[in-house]
Amino acid sequence: MKRRSIKVRVTLWYTSFIVALLLLTAGVLFLATRSMSRQQLKEELINSVTDMVGEVRFHYGEAETDKLDFYRSGVSLFIYDEQGYLIAPKVNLGVQVDAILEDQTMKTVNQNGGSWLVYDLYATEDSTGFWVRGLCSLTDAGRVSGQLWLVFLIVLPAVALAAAWGGWRITRRAFLPVEQMAKTADAIFTGADLSQRIPLSEGEDELKHLEVTLNGMLSRLQRSFERERQFTSDVSHELKTPLAVIRSQCEYALLPQTGCDEKTEAVKSILQQCAHMSSVVSQLLLLAKGENGTFKPRLERLELGEMWEAVCMDMEEQAKKEGISLSWNLEPELYVNGDETLLIRLLMNLITNAIRYNRPGGRIEVSLSRQENTAVLKVTDTGIGIAQDQIEHIWERFYRGDSSRSGDSSGLGLSMVRWIAKLHKGTVSVESIEGLGSTFTVTLPLDS
Ligand code: ADP
Repeated sequence: MKRRSIKVRVTLWYTSFIVALLLLTAGVLFLATRSMSRQQLKEELINSVTDMVGEVRFHYGEAETDKLDFYRSGVSLFIYDEQGYLIAPKVNLGVQVDAILEDQTMKTVNQNGGSWLVYDLYATEDSTGFWVRGLCSLTDAGRVSGQLWLVFLIVLPAVALAAAWGGWRITRRAFLPVEQMAKTADAIFTGADLSQRIPLSEGEDELKHLEVTLNGMLSRLQRSFERERQFTSDVSHELKTPLAVIRSQCEYALLPQTGCDEKTEAVKSILQQCAHMSSVVSQLLLLAKGENGTFKPRLERLELGEMWEAVCMDMEEQAKKEGISLSWNLEPELYVNGDETLLIRLLMNLITNAIRYNRPGGRIEVSLSRQENTAVLKVTDTGIGIAQDQIEHIWERFYRGDSSRSGDSSGLGLSMVRWIAKLHKGTVSVESIEGLGSTFTVTLPLDS
């Protein structure tokens, strides 16, 4: 069987619930009013009969009934003599019942198509015994609750209809955001457009929360797709040039007139391009892993001074070749919880740049000190500096400044530095004066 929509099910369920509730209330009310009115009738009957007993007077054995009222508050009253013969009223009230007289007894008598409540009382007055009988119609009382019941049966469908209509409107409204979400999902699917967002509904209910969550998820998905696209385009763009060089070098080497020495040069150049490509690819993969959150660093307690001193000693040789002096002043006993390979790479990238963008006879100073609970690394060079309008871009992947030496630079060095610092819950910043030099500062939280 086809499942009904949630809107229909909710409306049906709660309309049935309201109808059942109304029927139950009506039933309870009906029973309660019936028993209450019966109780009232009984009290009325006893009071009327007792009053009448008090009012009856006998004079020389004759009852004086002229001034008596034989019908009061729905109760018909009759006076009988000791043998049970009717004395009064003389006129026929038309509501007599044939039942034996029983003193102080309340009973129900069904007669002449009606139901009667009967109460008799025996008394004596002026040494004459007499009976007073009171009776009232139960059928009339029942008719009142019957009428109530009838009114209710007319009102019930109206209330049920109003409840169903109101409920349908409310549930339809409540489900509008869900329909909107389905529409947006459909639009995203058919148009392959992840920039679409679910319009936020008013109020602060659970559906609004869901809309916000889904929009957040869409943003994350969009960012992740864009990163993927960017990665593919970056890689292809970055590998295009070395591949073209490799191809032309191969063609050149294969020419019959190319000499042995020239062939060796061509192969060297090919090797250099291959090394550059493999370095770009491995750095890119590492960055991509970092951005996707799939990279798992190998964290351990590291003493920064010792570790970075080894890097400085290694790089000193390289700096010397370029006519640049490298000095360092590293405070010992500063420990961080970090990944050794990555932290070595961080300093190597900074020193490589400081050499690359320096001038012959220039200087590089590396310092490490403690500032409260952080380790502060500074790499200062007396190089060409960075133009103010370029400073905000230098951290971007594949960004190369005008001064970049395109041969060996990849534009990934500082992206790596920033990612590594971030991975270690640290920061990185730069201060630079064009023509005078730059200072790169990295802070890392210390491991206490
Ligand atoms: P690259 O491989 O080009 O060095 P980086 O990401 O390491 O890529 O650096 C990005 C750009 O920032 C460089 O192209 C250069 O213009 C600038 N830059 C980085 N370090 C320095 C520095 N120490 N002095 C001057 N410019 C620098």
